[in-house]
Amino acid sequence: MPLPDPTVSDWIAQGEETVEVHCSPKDRAGCGHYAVIRLDSLPPRMTRSQLARRTVCSACGGRGGQPMKDMKRHYRQLHEETGWDCVPSPVRYERG
Ligand SMILES: [Zn+2]
Repeated sequence: MPLPDPTVSDWIAQGEETVEVHCSPKDRAGCGHYAVIRLDSLPPRMTRSQLARRTVCSACGGRGGQPMKDMKRHYRQLHEETGWDCVPSPVRYERG
């Protein structure tokens, strides 16, 4: 069974406004750079795999990206809706 290949308009229909694309060239490891791209700046019928192929990293010039959910926006929305926060609590070490 082929993997689903959602389009920009699918993501918009799911309430997304942005997508994160992480540097992920085919021939080597990514440099760690990623960018947040507004979905309304992309063609609505562009698929996830087309976006992945057409991405060029602005930091290292690598061709190929890994599109992912914009997690910062997702966490911000969760926080607004539920008060949940992803900031880790400081770890306390106590001597026995
Ligand atoms: Zn890069």
